[in-house]
Amino acid sequence: MDENCIFCKIIKKEIPGSIVYENDYVCAFKDLHPVAPVHILVVPKKHIVSLEDVSEENLEYVAKIQLAFREIAKITGVSQNGYRVICNCGEDGGQEVKHLHYHFLAGKKLGAKIVHD
Ligand code: 5GP
Ligand code: ZN
Repeated sequence: MDENCIFCKIIKKEIPGSIVYENDYVCAFKDLHPVAPVHILVVPKKHIVSLEDVSEENLEYVAKIQLAFREIAKITGVSQNGYRVICNCGEDGGQEVKHLHYHFLAGKKLGAKIVHD
């Protein structure tokens, strides 16, 4: 964990983050500035900076995120209607927070174009 990282602080519950789902590997909490009726950030409970830092060593954390999406869909009641997952990576990808995170968006018919500005 990185003590200066805002998402690590949310994971450790040092600051309030309205967590909607968590397990040993994954934490999911509401985005502070939602762009859809359901906008949840899904993060590994390990300080991985971005997709560029995924490795065999931390792969378990990232793999568990893939399973968490279904759980989050169930919890938010959107399994049937569907959802979109986005991961911004690095400068050109528009990544602002340097802790790997996936945007889970749902609750309306999302436009054909992306999405998170
Ligand atoms: P990025 O642009 O890095 O892919 O997305 C970062 C996201 O984190 C943004 O959608 C922003 O609204 C959200 N965010 C930034 N700071 C906080 C925070 O302190 N708490 C929560 N819940 N979301 C945050
Ligand atoms: Zn972190």
